[in-house]
Amino acid sequence: MKFNTKAIHGGQHHDPSTGSVMPPVYQTTTFAQTSPGQPIGEYEYSRTGNPTRAALENALASIENGARGLAFSSGLAATDCVLRGLKAADEVIAMDDLYGGTYRMFSRIYKDSGIKFHFVDMNDMEKFKSLINKNTKLVWVETPTNPMMKLADIAAIAKITKANKIVFAVDNTFATPYLQNPLDLGADIVMHSATKYLAGHSDVIAGALIMKDEELGKQMHFQQFATGATLGPMDSFLVLRGIKTLHLRMQRHCENGEKVAEFLNNHPKVKTVYYPGLSSHPFHEIAKKQMSGFGGMVSFDFVSGKKEEAIDFLEKIKLFTLAESLGGVESLANYPVMMAHASIPEEKRKEIGITDDLVRLSVGVEDIDDLIGDLQKALA
Ligand SMILES: *Cc1c(COP(=O)(O)O)cnc(C)c1O
Repeated sequence: MKFNTKAIHGGQHHDPSTGSVMPPVYQTTTFAQTSPGQPIGEYEYSRTGNPTRAALENALASIENGARGLAFSSGLAATDCVLRGLKAADEVIAMDDLYGGTYRMFSRIYKDSGIKFHFVDMNDMEKFKSLINKNTKLVWVETPTNPMMKLADIAAIAKITKANKIVFAVDNTFATPYLQNPLDLGADIVMHSATKYLAGHSDVIAGALIMKDEELGKQMHFQQFATGATLGPMDSFLVLRGIKTLHLRMQRHCENGEKVAEFLNNHPKVKTVYYPGLSSHPFHEIAKKQMSGFGGMVSFDFVSGKKEEAIDFLEKIKLFTLAESLGGVESLANYPVMMAHASIPEEKRKEIGITDDLVRLSVGVEDIDDLIGDLQKALA
């Protein structure tokens, strides 16, 4: 099956009892048994498994080309599930430009339990290799990153993690499986904040893990049901419904994203535009190699370098809503320093390039003329 078909049919079947085309929202905690330990169907208790969630999990496995999908109560709950498998003295190598909440979890929750984290530029392969030792258990990469749109070469990293038997996880939230398939490139786990593009309508907080390998899938399912951060039936239904139009939405996000990036790139008040589709972007070659399009996330800063100019722009913009989050059908604008990345210490932010005049846009699927008109007015 090709991707556009998988988005709609992958892992799906009509409901066996009624033939309903979409899975019913099985809003139930428990399932009847005929004799102790003999449930009527395959389900016992909804933390362990629920048919609506299972329909979503099968869809997730299908679109990411994995053996097993799991749905969580948030993206961070999905990340947390991967980290749960680690023990004191284990080491993690992570990309140096991560979603703020991921960085916070690694550095303020798991660091205290004795796990060692190295945050590195994943394009410095020599540095990356030099950090690997017998305690290295996990490599965590986000590509493209939030908000600097840095990329990491998934296939090149996978070669090294495979040789050293290290689990390699990729946060694929920004690209989505429509644009990038980390498991095909050698990663072991794909993580999503399904809150963003997968659900796509800014109406549900959800997370996902997809494992390439059945065994690792079983281990993650054990960690999930033993700790409990599962996704409820109604939210599972909403994410599944979102996935059915993922390919259509992503196509438009990419078209609009490219046009917004070009517009900003030619604007006299704009200094740098961070968008992997621009030939001036330092990671454009990697983007062309591992992505089939460049997505709808665009960051930029100002020639003046002034914080006031960024704030003035964010107060003036109308069609783009100033808000946290991204990946929905509506366009959003974000000020990383005070919003999404406020949890990253100032010196660390400066190091990765998150300056006081940086603005991040999640370009939605509205008419492009209206979006450009709005940007034009706010920049004037
Ligand atoms: C939002 C986001 C997360 C966290 O997901 P939640 O659903 O908010 O818990 C992780 N990674 C990236 C890239 C994100 O954008």
